[in-house]
Amino acid sequence: MNGPIVREVRIQRTTSLEAFRTLDRLDVLVEDVERLGRLVRRALSPNRVWMLNSTETGGGVAEMMPRLCSLLNDLRVDTRWLVLHPDHPEFFPVTKGLHHLLHGMEGLADLGRARAVYEEVSRRAAGNLREVINHGDILVVHDPQPLGAAALFAQEFCCPPMLWRCHIGTAHRNPHTEKGWRFLSEYLQPFERLLFSAEPYIPAELYERSAVLYPGIDPLSHKNRDLSLYKLLGILRAAGLVDGPPAPGWACFEAQAQRFVDGRWEASPLENLLFRPVILQLSRFDRLKGYQHLMPAFAHLLEHGPERIRKMKVATERALSELSQVELVLAGPDPAGVADDPEAGAYLDELCQQQMALPEEIRRRVHLLRLPMVSTKQNALIVNALQRLAMVVIQASVREGFGLTVAEALWKGTPVVASNVGGLGIQIRHGTDGLLVGDPSDAAALSEAVLHMLAYPKEAELMARSGRRRVLGHFLMLGQLQSWLEEFARILGVGGAVTAKRGLTQ
Ligand code: UDP
Repeated sequence: MNGPIVREVRIQRTTSLEAFRTLDRLDVLVEDVERLGRLVRRALSPNRVWMLNSTETGGGVAEMMPRLCSLLNDLRVDTRWLVLHPDHPEFFPVTKGLHHLLHGMEGLADLGRARAVYEEVSRRAAGNLREVINHGDILVVHDPQPLGAAALFAQEFCCPPMLWRCHIGTAHRNPHTEKGWRFLSEYLQPFERLLFSAEPYIPAELYERSAVLYPGIDPLSHKNRDLSLYKLLGILRAAGLVDGPPAPGWACFEAQAQRFVDGRWEASPLENLLFRPVILQLSRFDRLKGYQHLMPAFAHLLEHGPERIRKMKVATERALSELSQVELVLAGPDPAGVADDPEAGAYLDELCQQQMALPEEIRRRVHLLRLPMVSTKQNALIVNALQRLAMVVIQASVREGFGLTVAEALWKGTPVVASNVGGLGIQIRHGTDGLLVGDPSDAAALSEAVLHMLAYPKEAELMARSGRRRVLGHFLMLGQLQSWLEEFARILGVGGAVTAKRGLTQ
């Protein structure tokens, strides 16, 4: 074995608590967070909090981790970040199978083999945890990948207070979810507290130990902070997505976005990006994100949209003209940059085939983009720019834990159409903060929702504004920080009357 497979990630100081004071109406929340921070620090010190997950880049957990750690350290709650780098090629395929099961889909055909691989890696990782975690530290484990490592560590070495944060799940139990939870149940035993993204995800047998903890976005991060037009254009220039005069010095990125043109990937500008209404889905290339449903919905929109518009009470000429210009952009991280997702490359290949099979007049309006992951900051800036320029952001997930992409788009004032699954239906109240579609594979319904946003731009804007207020109230990093501190206070026995949170009602 070469070196540890659990390694510490240096936390870049990406954000500061002080900066949040300047945001609308957040000073009261900042004060409460500071009070909780003092409480936790006194009870925990000189020990620390360890966060453990399985990737440094790509996806919602990796997105939140540096910011959360950074803010906790700001409060002088010593917090470190560990990442599991399994050295077994079957490990991530096994945990991807588990992920599918917990979302109610098929997975883990050979359970015996899966268990053997999972335990082999977990055992080695448990040994690594022993080297760094001290008695009295708090260990927070994210998602199923490193769960076994923590459980074996607790069983064989020492048992620190442990919390498990489950970022995935579904409200609908079926034989697949049962199989997934059975697989995990023994590893969950040493955990004092289990935290889910939504109440319906909590399995009945785990209810007593569980609570809801919403993810949140950082409005001041590269991903979400305001961009002047000049900055936005500079970012797109630097990513190679638009042409223009020589870019300024700061706008020189390490890698360019790639797009799929005539059957191959290339770095070339997207001619119409700034001049046409763009429908954007920007997520991970994962079948559960529902990209496969978007090309049929787009084709439906182009085919049936004009006749629908003629029946609407709108400025027909304007709506028809916009519809004739609209383009679909399907973007996601370059699969090579997302360590814990072994299926992304093959799935993206399928999307490429799907795009190639489209009739020419539709194909030239459908753009698949692979965003570079070489620099997290540059990747975040590209995401920011794309979410801002879109006429509408879609998130057509088949299953979804929470869906940070929706909070990100709403924060930017971009109207959102999403499927009514998981956390998407918690973030968006249909008709108030955006539009929800029951079934993401229903091309007509998706197309109708997008058309509505296109045909009624004022209504779309009002929904997006309302969505932004909802994000401000419930889905910011600061609220998440407050929940974490309450959990730590509780586990340290200084929490007072912290009640089990059960989440928002619509
Ligand atoms: N994301 C990113 N770069 C990309 C594509 C996506 O940073 O090229 C981010 C996206 O902005 C969001 C996260 O990945 O913050 C996805 O989180 P979400 O909760 O939507 O889904 P998950 O990936 O956790 O299933």
